[in-house]
Amino acid sequence: MSTSREEIRLIGFRWSPETHEIKDFLARNQVTYHWLDPDTDPEARALLEDPELAGTSLPLLLFPDGSRLVAPSDAEVAEKIGLSTEATSPFYDTIIVGGGPAGLAAAVYAGSEGLRTLIVERDAPGGQAGYSARIENCLGFPDGIGGGELARRAVKQAERFGVEILAARTVTGIAAEGRYRFLTLDEEGNTRELACHTILLATGISWRLLEAPGCSDLLGAGVYYGAASSEAAALENQNVFIAGGGEFGRTGRSGARAPRPLGHPRDAGRIAFGADVPLSCRSNRTDPEHQDAARVLRDRRGGKHEPGDTHDPGPHLERGGDRGGERSSY
Ligand SMILES: Cc1cc2nc3c(=O)[nH]c(=O)nc-3n(C[C@H](O)[C@H](O)[C@H](O)COP(=O)(O)OP(=O)(O)OC[C@H]3O[C@@H](n4cnc5c(N)ncnc54)[C@H](O)[C@@H]3O)c2cc1C
Repeated sequence: MSTSREEIRLIGFRWSPETHEIKDFLARNQVTYHWLDPDTDPEARALLEDPELAGTSLPLLLFPDGSRLVAPSDAEVAEKIGLSTEATSPFYDTIIVGGGPAGLAAAVYAGSEGLRTLIVERDAPGGQAGYSARIENCLGFPDGIGGGELARRAVKQAERFGVEILAARTVTGIAAEGRYRFLTLDEEGNTRELACHTILLATGISWRLLEAPGCSDLLGAGVYYGAASSEAAALENQNVFIAGGGEFGRTGRSGARAPRPLGHPRDAGRIAFGADVPLSCRSNRTDPEHQDAARVLRDRRGGKHEPGDTHDPGPHLERGGDRGGERSSY
């Protein structure tokens, strides 16, 4: 049995939370893959009997180039599928925490105004919208648009304006010192601090968890809070129980959701914009302010230099140079 093929294959058990997490991450990043359950799929069993793979832990990802990832983290999968997980600069004008519709929209505007902008997303760009099969009330899409497609377009648009997007990185701390804001990224012990003028929080919501005995043990293994469409195929002709009769409950029951505007007033309290920091500032990594920020950042690390401290301007600036107040074309 050949261990390479023209598509990504995921070998993992149906009720494994780790397998679910990878399926969800790939689906929400619009990466197509073929899932093979060793319990039911002869191809999976044959692959696992191959001397090359025998004894390998699951879940296992096999890539078309012949490489594989064994029980990988989201960050490892992100890197492998070509998503950025490391910032190219230690300093930005604006850093947006959260890559949902609010964060992506803010990034498009910040980027189009020439601000060096970074989005840090702990999961996949698109946020909750990535779970939506069809959004009917999105401005500019009279026929509706799939949540995944909306996310894909928003990412493309933001990147066109030079916005950097990190996936699978979690912001664990923010701080202010003088006129700079500092943000700590943490992923499995890999901690990094970045500096900026403005931090914009667009972190959306957290699910209210169901306090039912045994529920937490089954998370990702039959119990889901907002499952991506990746689960749908596996649930064909199965009984699905929905706890909660709110919006998502109705969506699950009917297969079609009641329209509600993006940026509904109900969401307003979940989005906090960086207060009193001007969005009109522009700077260059080589300008005095950048050097100053880099110095403060180094002091905070106890004098330690990090790659990127003296980097050349990144793609965003290379493209437009220090736009110095110019608007980019849009
Ligand atoms: C199934 C479904 C269908 C929907 N359909 C519609 C619809 O048709 N019309 C409509 O108007 N609305 C719809 N909604 C609601 C809509 O998706 C949300 O209102 C919208 O996504 C909110 O956007 P947001 O950017 O504020 O937050 P979110 O989409 O929640 O995005 C926040 C992001 O921040 C990230 N994040 C949080 N904390 C951190 C951290 N510490 N570090 C890094 N990243 C972090 C999260 O991972 C997340 O991706 C639907 C929602 C769901 C789940």
